[in-house]
This record gives sequence, C-alpha cells and structure tokens, in this order.
Amino acid sequence: MISRFSIALPFCFILCLIHVSSAYEDDGKDPTIKTMEAFSGYPIHEHVSPDPLSSLSVDTQGLQKQFDELASFSDSPAPSVTRILYSENDVLGRRYIKNLMSLSGLSVREDAIGNIFGRWNGDEPELAAVSTGSHTDAIPYSGKYDGVLGVLGAIEAINVLKRSGFKPKRPLEVIMFTSEEPTRFGISCLGSRLMAGIKEHAELLKNTVDNQNISFFDAAKAAGYSNVENLSSAFLNKGSYSAFVELHIEQGPILEEEAIPIGVVTAIAAPASIKVDFEGNGGHAGAALMPTRNDAGLAAAELALAVEKHVLDSGSIDTVGTVGILDLHPGAINSIPSKSHLEIDTRDIDEKRRNTVVEKIHQSALSISNKRRVMLSQFKIINQDPPASSEEFIIKAAESSARELNLPYKKMISRAYHDSLFMARISPMAMIFVPCYKGYSHKPEEYASPEAITDGVKVLALTLAKLSTQ
Ligand SMILES: [Zn+2]
Repeated sequence: MISRFSIALPFCFILCLIHVSSAYEDDGKDPTIKTMEAFSGYPIHEHVSPDPLSSLSVDTQGLQKQFDELASFSDSPAPSVTRILYSENDVLGRRYIKNLMSLSGLSVREDAIGNIFGRWNGDEPELAAVSTGSHTDAIPYSGKYDGVLGVLGAIEAINVLKRSGFKPKRPLEVIMFTSEEPTRFGISCLGSRLMAGIKEHAELLKNTVDNQNISFFDAAKAAGYSNVENLSSAFLNKGSYSAFVELHIEQGPILEEEAIPIGVVTAIAAPASIKVDFEGNGGHAGAALMPTRNDAGLAAAELALAVEKHVLDSGSIDTVGTVGILDLHPGAINSIPSKSHLEIDTRDIDEKRRNTVVEKIHQSALSISNKRRVMLSQFKIINQDPPASSEEFIIKAAESSARELNLPYKKMISRAYHDSLFMARISPMAMIFVPCYKGYSHKPEEYASPEAITDGVKVLALTLAKLSTQ
C-alpha cells in the first residue's frame, strides 16, 4: 500500500497537469487518467485539491469567445460596438446573456424594464444575496469591454466557483443592468436608479422620449417588456442584498502605468450637471460700440473660467469641473452673441465640497449677469447625485482575495460613475478594477488583456465566495 502511494502521487501530479492542459477535449475526460486509475487502483482525483478555492480555474479562452460573440450584436462594424437600449441588437445581446446564465445553472428573471437577474441559491436561500453585475449597452462606436466585463466576468466567476466545488451559504446573484449609458433617453444608469427605488426617476421615465419621439414605454414594450408601466415593481428594498460588487475595466491609465493587476475601489465620484443660459441684445459686430454691448458670449466665457477657478479653489485633486458644451447664438462672425448656452459637469467624491462648487458657480453666474447686463435666463441643476463610499467589509474581502491569489492591488477612486453608485443606496457596495490599454474606453481601441480579465474574474470569484459565507 505504501509503495503504491509513493508511485501514484507523482504520477497523479503529472497527470493532473496533463488533464488541465487538455481541458478542451470533446468529452472532457482524459482517457489516460482512467487507465491510470485502473492501473493503480487509487482514485487519483481525491488528492487534487483539499481546499476547493485554492485552485480557481478561469476558462480564459471561452470567456474571450463570449466577448467576441456579444460584440457581434452591434449597430456599427467591428472592432467598434454600438448597442443602444431596446434596439434589435440590445435584445439579441440580452437573449445571449440570459442563455449564458441558464447554461451556468442560474435561475433567470427580468424586472419591468429588463434588468436581468441570474441567481444561484445557496445553502440558506432565505438570506439576503450577494450580488455582482454591470451593463452591456454600449454608446455609439465604443468598445467591447466597458460594462461587459462585469457581466460576462461575473457569470464566469460563478462557473469558476461551481467548478471548484464551492457551495455558497448566501445566494449569489448576477445582474445585468438596463442602460447604464444615457445614449437613447438621456438618463444614465436607468436600470440601477430604478432598482434603488428613486421615485423622481420613475416619474421622469413616464414622460421620457428619445430623439425620434418614441416614448420610453413604447420602446420597452417593443423590446418585449409589456409590464414596463408598472415601474415601481422594479424597486428593491434596502437589505435585498448583503453586498454588491462590480467588476469593471479601470477606464483610466493608472493600473496599467503602475503595472498593478487589481484596483479596489474605495469611493465613486458623482457628477452634478448644470445648464446655463445668458441673453443679451446682440447686434452688429462693427456698428455696436464696446461700451454699449451686453455680450452673452463673453458672459459664458467668463463663467467657464469661473468654473475652473472654483474647482481649483476646493484644494482637492478629487474636485473636477468641465464646460463640455458652449453654444453661441446666432453663431455668425459678424454678430455679437445674443444668447449663450453652457452645460457644466462637476464631480467629486465629497458631496459637500462638490455642492459648494455648484453654489459658487451659481453666485458667479448671478454676478456676471449683473456686471455684464445680460439676463441669466436659466440656471438649472439637471442632476446632483450623491457620491458613494465603498463598504469596508467588501474592500477587505477583495483585498484578502487579491493577496491570497498573489495579485498586487491598489486602492483607488472611481472617477467615472457606474451602476454601483446607485446600488450603494440599497446595498453595501464596492468595485474591482482591472487595467485596460492606455486607459482607453468608449472607443473601439478599448482593450483589456486576457490575463487582466482572468485576474479580475479570479478576484471577483474569491470575493463573492468570502461574502457569501459571511
Ligand atoms: Zn461601464
């Protein structure tokens, strides 16, 4: 018996390696192992892994194939991806995701606006679930990783745990959020805002139309969501989830530049968006003398510089402000602008600091209109979402997962916002980032390497496993 052991173990080790490298064989079974078992009389698989989570195997090739297949549902040619809410390709993409969830043995449901949920019931299904997910809609001519990693990667993380023999205590749930991008209806994070039970958002959706004048309700019905008018049925209670964690490409250059495979997000910055209109008398660019003018264009220019000043005065590198739109009317070289329109985006991870900037911008708009004798005909705060902090116990779970997998990590802030920002209103939340090429996102050059994706999926899988037993 002793001698059989000493022969069988090294053989087992080698054969296991062979087995892993030939994992894509047709029937999934290596005939040499069967022979070896018969020969030794010893069930070699019993020795493979005493701790199932010590050997997490990601199907990197299979996952790559899924990225490519999902990217083929696009309104623009490869390598770009365009997948707009409730379009034919969006519906096909949704079908693809639901199918993958079913293949992974998850029970699939959809809510009134098409947030998709795939649940793996744990040993104690009555407990609040641990959830993970992201979005698969894509702005025009973007890439195939933004959001998609957090959906395909989450389903693969479930597969990884299932393959390892892990059994969750709490249920694990993968979520595909409806329309994180604002492309069609001008509202970002449409699905997660609704799940968070924001009533004003539900009210807004009732009267929202796209640029073809198709209402949100009609578009949803055309995509098969006939129950869409029952918006409140999609609200989730606080406590529905014990934790939410989103895997995402960084969309910035830091991880790649510092060659760090994992980012653990500690806070998500949130924007306030403002629309401003000034009106003056306009006039002929030659005939109207300077002392008589009230130039709406110069008022806009002065306000744009005031935005920069107030942002810099905050003293924090985390405060940012952008005037992304500045339109002048009538827009002729020989005409003094009689109207100007600005759209301002300012963000921070500190809500009070950001709101102080918004207030200072308002004061500047008033004083500029006074000084330049132009009318401030609009100063409208379009949205002012609160930033979110990640929850310490999820940060800890992600950090210890990275450490156990020997993957260096960095704690960082998400300066873009995600569905996680709204999930934070109903659940403890954190995010995991992986590096992407040059930080590119929202363009066809967006790229995350198979290694980066594999690392991210492993950290997500282990983090979910830890959270599901807490
Ligand atoms: Zn995204």
